[in-house]
Amino acid sequence: MNRSATLKPVGFTFSFFIISAVSLFSAEKPSYYVIKDSWQETMYASRQALIDFEARQTIQNTAKIRELGIETGPWYLVGPFDGVKQDPYETQFGPELDTDLNKTYGQLKWTPKPDWKDGDIHILPGQGRAVANYVYRTISANKDAKLPIYLGSSDGIQVWFNGQKVLANKIDRKAEADQDIIELDFKQGENELLLKINNQASRHDFYFAILPGRGKKAELRKQLWDVIELDFAGDTERQQMRWEREDRIWEEDPNSGYISKLAQRYAHAAANFEPFSGKAKLFSGKVENFDQLKDVRKIYYVSKRFEYNLRSVNQKRKLMKNEADYFSQMYKADHTQWEKYKAELAIIEAKNNKISAKVRAGDFSALESLPEIETELEKIYSRQSAIPGGAKALQCHPFELKDVRLLDGPFRTAMELDRKYLYDLDSDRLLHMFRVTAELPSTAQPLGGWEARGLRGHTIGHYLTACALMYASTADENLKVKADYIVAELAKCQTASGNGYLSAFPEKCVKDVIYGTGGWWAPWYTLHKIFAGLIDMYNYCGNQQAIDIALKMASWAKGHLDNLNEEQMQRMLETEYGGMNETLCDLYMITKNPDHLALAKKFDHKKIFEPLTKFEDRLKGLHVNTQIPKIIGTAREFELTGEKYYYNISAYFWTEVVDARTYCTGGTSNHEHWRTEPYKLAAELSPATQETCCTYNMLKLTRHLFTWQPNAEYADYYETALYNSILSTQDPKTGMMMYHVPLNSGHWKSFNTPYDSFWCCTGTGLENHAKYGDSIYFHDDKGLYVNLFIASELNWTDKGVQILQQTNFPEEQQTTLMIKTKKPAEFDLRIRVPSWLIGPMTVKINGSKQKAKTQPGSYLTLKQTWKNGDRITIDLPMGLHLHRMPDDAGLAAIMYGPLVMAGELGTEGLPDNVFLKKQLEQNITPAYPPVPEFFADSDRIEKWIKPVEGQPLTFKTVNAGKPRDVKLVPYYRLFDQRYSIYWRLNPADQ
Ligand SMILES: [Zn+2]
Repeated sequence: MNRSATLKPVGFTFSFFIISAVSLFSAEKPSYYVIKDSWQETMYASRQALIDFEARQTIQNTAKIRELGIETGPWYLVGPFDGVKQDPYETQFGPELDTDLNKTYGQLKWTPKPDWKDGDIHILPGQGRAVANYVYRTISANKDAKLPIYLGSSDGIQVWFNGQKVLANKIDRKAEADQDIIELDFKQGENELLLKINNQASRHDFYFAILPGRGKKAELRKQLWDVIELDFAGDTERQQMRWEREDRIWEEDPNSGYISKLAQRYAHAAANFEPFSGKAKLFSGKVENFDQLKDVRKIYYVSKRFEYNLRSVNQKRKLMKNEADYFSQMYKADHTQWEKYKAELAIIEAKNNKISAKVRAGDFSALESLPEIETELEKIYSRQSAIPGGAKALQCHPFELKDVRLLDGPFRTAMELDRKYLYDLDSDRLLHMFRVTAELPSTAQPLGGWEARGLRGHTIGHYLTACALMYASTADENLKVKADYIVAELAKCQTASGNGYLSAFPEKCVKDVIYGTGGWWAPWYTLHKIFAGLIDMYNYCGNQQAIDIALKMASWAKGHLDNLNEEQMQRMLETEYGGMNETLCDLYMITKNPDHLALAKKFDHKKIFEPLTKFEDRLKGLHVNTQIPKIIGTAREFELTGEKYYYNISAYFWTEVVDARTYCTGGTSNHEHWRTEPYKLAAELSPATQETCCTYNMLKLTRHLFTWQPNAEYADYYETALYNSILSTQDPKTGMMMYHVPLNSGHWKSFNTPYDSFWCCTGTGLENHAKYGDSIYFHDDKGLYVNLFIASELNWTDKGVQILQQTNFPEEQQTTLMIKTKKPAEFDLRIRVPSWLIGPMTVKINGSKQKAKTQPGSYLTLKQTWKNGDRITIDLPMGLHLHRMPDDAGLAAIMYGPLVMAGELGTEGLPDNVFLKKQLEQNITPAYPPVPEFFADSDRIEKWIKPVEGQPLTFKTVNAGKPRDVKLVPYYRLFDQRYSIYWRLNPADQ
């Protein structure tokens, strides 16, 4: 290695207090393992011994570092080296052939990074792309010695020490502390360390330290659980350990007052399940020794069993009942079988209700029969799978977007802002990389964000869909002309490629993914967007050329995918592919060509689908927005084939995600993943909670399920998510959209820039605000469903009827429907009775009050012959209520009707610029003032949350907040300041 010394004095050197070689234990029983009678005592004793062990290690290591006189020089960085045409891990770029800090490599040169501190994760240039970066530093020692270093990287890493290659790890991962630990041979004097970190897609960063960090500590604690599991292997003990790990009972290390804290944690976790809260509270703070823990622990275990079994039984019962209702309704030929099945379920329901009543009355012994009930349910379920399904899926239908016009209100305002943005986007800039890829001339300025990276081309797909939806929503001919031009230009690009392939990245990228010969971010994901945009241009704008392009693309895809066997296909599906199964179903709907349906089914991802058919939640660890589009695909596959397999996947997935993995806002995911077991959300609030694409996709899935079974539950969810996670994510001044929706208290909203941050959520954001009209009304042969209270006009052509909905909802708690018809029309008018109502929903027809059943969470049906000018007025009493975390009853959001109320926390600590070029920038959290907590009676919130006079939908807390009270406004109306959505609730007397 050749390194110039001239650059070296630029930086300063850090001194380190570091560690010597910790024996990286691989034996089953580490030295600090102390076995006792029970696993809990073993855990307690071993954790105490582990802390002592680590303290001794730190002292030894620090002494050794001092003795060796270890001093590190500043980091130097060069990169990113482009790996698009070649694998960046394998390719030997200049710096590893000849490490000379004075050398330049094209435009790239070494730059010092004096701010990089050891023990932090350092972001590298080339996020989201296939690239490699090199980092270099010197480390000097005053004698020869062996010392470990602690590394982490996204993705692969290679290390040279004094010119010798000492680590080669080709891997795809997120950088964390201590992922690779290697021991180095230090020589007296200056040693040279060179790291090469390569990236495939998404995040690109690395970690370095000379002392063990979080990763090592966490690993030792995890290993301790594994060792204890070997010695305490009974079913009961294993189950206890699973629960206690999930509930993080042992997360903290033993410290003073630890036993009492353990008792509080058990009591807290038990109290999250309502029947147990009274009993559990008795134990808080009264436990002083290990023996006394037994009683509170017993209550905790009983509560866990009850919670688990009851949830599981109730969910299975609900899903099976829905299914039975559905298929008996749809498939009259098999009516008797389905009716028999329903009768069996009814017996179980009665049993279950009895148990629940007993337990709520304090008789926990009734719990014993819950597992039996679950087994019975499973038996029935396996029998019903033999009952045939059928081919007709839909009980009701959405209206075409062109038949619904929005009237003035927040949704129309959002749509108009979006329309403006669709005009502002330059067509030739959107087309640029397609033309470059097809080797056609283009002088346009390239777009930024992921359009400059591995996902380039995805935006044009979203753009075409958005224009098509906007044209349908507004009849804006000029926008159609703009989109038609893009389609025509894409056709030229496709012709130039000559084989039907059309994308903004080279064909090799997707072929590598198909044949497993290399990695690329997510080529099928991007192709899905292009397919969808073209199909929408055909469906909504009648653009024949668009469908011709899509058909050629489908032939190209079939040509390649026919070469793969099932195993190879499943391997390919491990790479995110959007909703290819959905879009090919949509193509089949147009062509009726069975090849297209067969091709759609090839995209069935077995590993994801199989557990879902068995009602099993194996979602932990998965990237959320990779999965939801696949499930939308299964919904389309069900609609086209009638196969119950697909019905069950869609229905269970929706129920599980909405019940167990969704926040008060209707959003899901944290850092784009499901990182926990179901119902564990309290620790998931971060600057990067709920990706907006996930809401976009859950809403799409919800519409499918609603058309199969028009249950108000689906429409309730739709409304919650629409206000709090879609309308709330558009900046009212600029129309720019949010990527992640931060739910950690004290954060703020950040948005994309117009031209340099084309992320996934920028693309789905273009669509979100163009299609508000698509889910307000649905219909079947007999009548109309009114699902949303949004000012709009519906043209129901089949009936020759128009419905005018006039409302200022939610600012006013009322809506009015007016019937316009040339001749009297007979139909059922079904109005959603929202589950959030706090009083009766009164209905007047032409001023006279109707007697009607209005059970929240159902539909009110008005059957009659309607004549021109009939007016139906509906009162919708809204009130304040709490949305508690399922795993922490003391953490709750405040809601008013369907609206999440956010607390205004002011602008202190707010960054100057909330329009971001990089989507990860919003994760950088400055120090900001503490967020108030509430000390008040959480069962009677109306006592301490009061309306603000003269300001609709605005409240304030009164003598409840510490250090201060807060003002609450709907989250969809809060911008330009920090906020909180979930609050810590404490008893009033504290
Ligand atoms: Zn997204």
